[in-house]
Amino acid sequence: MKRRRLHSEIIYTIVSLLKGLGVTFTNLWRKKVTLMYPEERWDLPENYRGMPAMPIDRKTGKDKCIACGACMRICPEQIITVGHVVGEDKKRKLTGFVIDMSRCMFCGLCAEICPTAGIVMSDTYEISKTSREQLVFDLDDLHEIGGFHPDEPEEEAGEQTASEGSGTRVSRNNEETTSAGFGTGVSRNNESAGGGEEKPAEGGTA
Ligand code: SF4
Ligand code: SF4
Repeated sequence: MKRRRLHSEIIYTIVSLLKGLGVTFTNLWRKKVTLMYPEERWDLPENYRGMPAMPIDRKTGKDKCIACGACMRICPEQIITVGHVVGEDKKRKLTGFVIDMSRCMFCGLCAEICPTAGIVMSDTYEISKTSREQLVFDLDDLHEIGGFHPDEPEEEAGEQTASEGSGTRVSRNNEETTSAGFGTGVSRNNESAGGGEEKPAEGGTA
């Protein structure tokens, strides 16, 4: 009785082994679905939404934000703080911009509502940090991630202006939008952060 049981266990083991090897050999010829990250990365789809960023306009050398506060009001997580002063010309001037990325859900509403494409969705998604504090991005960080706005074609410049607020996205793969800081992640140890840039007051919601 014992011997018969031993035989059946040996046969069962061999069959299991052969089945396992069969699965291994079958998958050897299949197309790979893994990448050698971080050396290799996926090609992101055209409409991929990464974290919000504030690209620089090449013509003015500044971002396009007019401190209207629309993004701050629409953000479902209430994680955007826009600081501003009203100048002698009665226009708002941006003094600071902060996003607490620890709670951002990449919904893109801030970019959708922005009337000037001052804030856009980038394709940056690697923002792992070691503390929540490091996930609070200020204006310098958002500029660094945003890089530059794509150059607008001359003949379409008028149309572009009319549709700027419709969720523009800057792409890491687009050479025109590539800047020194683009695609390299964000350094919260950025020395320029806080270097003379006034931070918005806490709770400075409109
Ligand atoms: S992407 Fe959504 S959650 Fe993130 S800052 Fe913009 S509006 Fe808020
Ligand atoms: S909606 Fe656009 S222009 Fe208005 S505060 Fe936000 S980023 Fe600036």
